[in-house]
Amino acid sequence: MISFYPGPSKLYARVPNFLKDACASGILSMNHRSAEFEDLFKRTVDLLRQKLNIPSGYSLYFVSSATECWEIIAQSLIKKQSVHVYNGAFGKKWFDYTSRLKPEAVASPFDQETEALSVTKTFENAEVICFTQNETSNGTQVSNRILHTVRKSNPESLIAVDATSSMGGIELDFLTADVWLASVQKCFGLPAGLGILICSPAALHRAREINERNHYNSLLFLEEMAQRNQTSYTPNVLDIYLLMRVLEEIKPIDKINKSLVARYRKWETMFDSKGNQLQLLIKNKAVRSHTVLTLEAKPDVIQLVKSKAKQAGFILGEGYGDLKNTTFRIANFPALKRNEIARLMDFLYEFI
Ligand SMILES: *Cc1c(COP(=O)(O)O)cnc(C)c1O
Repeated sequence: MISFYPGPSKLYARVPNFLKDACASGILSMNHRSAEFEDLFKRTVDLLRQKLNIPSGYSLYFVSSATECWEIIAQSLIKKQSVHVYNGAFGKKWFDYTSRLKPEAVASPFDQETEALSVTKTFENAEVICFTQNETSNGTQVSNRILHTVRKSNPESLIAVDATSSMGGIELDFLTADVWLASVQKCFGLPAGLGILICSPAALHRAREINERNHYNSLLFLEEMAQRNQTSYTPNVLDIYLLMRVLEEIKPIDKINKSLVARYRKWETMFDSKGNQLQLLIKNKAVRSHTVLTLEAKPDVIQLVKSKAKQAGFILGEGYGDLKNTTFRIANFPALKRNEIARLMDFLYEFI
């Protein structure tokens, strides 16, 4: 079976080998305060910086999930109010979870066919403005250009970006925001259970002003531990190791981005040129995600395609939330191989 699920997704092909190496290396039973772990931590952080082009002043932390990052932002970077600019289920979930900790959080939803810019203006009182760069539920994305504009019009606010289903695949301009978050089971092609949190100097400065220290994962504790190449709890050492091995082998992000967009264009051309009964959900090309494609059709067609796909050896992503019965999703993640995509294209062609 080839999984085109947009997370947890197909693993990089070499992960089984890396797993064996991890067991053989002894790192999995090593203390997370040991020098060996600190080396692993440091090397993985350095590789992330290098391969993803993360500015040297930004700090990186390992946590358990993207969801945990939402909570860390709420507890450690917001005193009262954040604004959540979103057009789909993940952005809304982020807003909902934040509201429980900070009831003054404001939702600023926008239509999935429009660029986020049409609702982005100056957000008064927004300590943090939250964007979902790649909305995995509907297959839309917010461009670097828009993030840049928001930053310019809101110099007092921190910008936080959920890039869970794009980091590791798309070239992100980290300087356009202060907080970036992701987890590894999407574009990094790894097993779930590891989150990556990236903070600008301005974000850390804000954390120091607020000085929130009530939680094991308070940002200031994460920072203190990271200074020593450690974490504040026993981390997912296996996933950190696998991440290091994957990062050692992958190309720099500009190259990955380029081939991913080229693959995306092929999908787009195929669906747009025919598109009788199966079409891309998002009509506005400018906002379509490059890493997650959402296909729309009548429920019976969706059912048929999904069951035939299964027989043919493909796992497609279920529609998410409200879109469950009328859509399915296809991951366009870097771990998928060219011939696997070609096979799915052949299979889907007759249904379009
Ligand atoms: C998958 C996903 C999440 C949740 O990730 P976890 O690792 O399960 O916490 C959050 N945001 C987006 C955009 C996602 O795609």
